[in-house]
Amino acid sequence: MTVQVETSICQDRKAKVPDQQLVFGRTFTDHMFVADYSEGAGWHDFRIQPYQPLTLDPSAIVLHYGQTVFEGLKAYKSPTGKVRLFRPRLNFERLNESCARMCMPTIDPDAMLDSLVELLRLEKDWIPTAPGTSLYIRPFMIATEAYLGVAPSQKYQFIIILSPVGSYYKEGIAPVKILVESQYVRAVAGGTGTAKTAGNYAASLKAQQAAGSEGYAQVMWLDGVERKYIEEVGSMNVFFKIDGKVYTPALNGSILDGITRRSIIDILRYWEVPVIERRISMEEIREAHRTGKLEEAWGTGTAAVISPIGEFKWQNELFYVNNGQTGELSARLYDTITGLQTGEMPDPFGWTIEFE
Ligand SMILES: *Cc1c(COP(=O)(O)O)cnc(C)c1O
Repeated sequence: MTVQVETSICQDRKAKVPDQQLVFGRTFTDHMFVADYSEGAGWHDFRIQPYQPLTLDPSAIVLHYGQTVFEGLKAYKSPTGKVRLFRPRLNFERLNESCARMCMPTIDPDAMLDSLVELLRLEKDWIPTAPGTSLYIRPFMIATEAYLGVAPSQKYQFIIILSPVGSYYKEGIAPVKILVESQYVRAVAGGTGTAKTAGNYAASLKAQQAAGSEGYAQVMWLDGVERKYIEEVGSMNVFFKIDGKVYTPALNGSILDGITRRSIIDILRYWEVPVIERRISMEEIREAHRTGKLEEAWGTGTAAVISPIGEFKWQNELFYVNNGQTGELSARLYDTITGLQTGEMPDPFGWTIEFE
């Protein structure tokens, strides 16, 4: 252990929600992890306490200027009842990168991982086991100093909460319809698009809402300068299979560096499927579609893992992908990543950690 974690156990345990009734992000476990930071003292008071509301001064910087970052990862229970995590260090390293962008203090990734392991050991019974379910982990940091000046806070809290979540796909992995967004943008190079910070998500709601009212599940974001090049789909990275090769937008300073994205690239290379990271225009996708070479498209992220795309709408054109069906490679990637995560498949990459 790199840190000493004080634990206070809650008196009344909550009733568990049956696995089949779990939805995303509505149920929380009995305990949470909290650590405090103040300028000069650094990080201190690492503790596990009963899950409870926070007490914040109404002038806390996070509430006014959005100085906050978060992460998202999942814990699974192995067939032998052990707790499993998928590349968790990468989440804590990325949290620190988000912190650096937002002028927030970093935390030793080992201290965060040890704290998480401690919390998971206590909350192990909350990990659902039905197929497709998992315990979603939300580490986050907020600026807590009481001050209305626009300046980095001198005080912070780092918190981890846990939420048992249901299967993202109620009836198996299924393709979604995507609206290509030409008016609003998610991020621009030099902005905060590479950080998991709250403002990016608040800014995305308007486009998401408009797409939803037209019957589309998500928007596809184009670059903020020319509105030509593909960036992401909702809060997922995006991949296209064109004429036997896989393409994904290169990390360009406005795209979030997804851990699922990295894992997909590594798995495809392991399978000797060509993967190309470069700038991809919407014109190219139209051309690939027109010539019958657009074979598959999918989004990637921790929540859905793989989200196949069955249809795009760009301006007034509709592009169907693989007749609106889940592609073979998308399905194989989904089975592989979830197999590694749950421990049903051997892990040749050494990506997963397991503990009791
Ligand atoms: C979190 C996130 C992703 C996916 O990242 P993963 O590490 O794969 O979960 C992609 N895009 C955005 C904007 C995100 O916030």
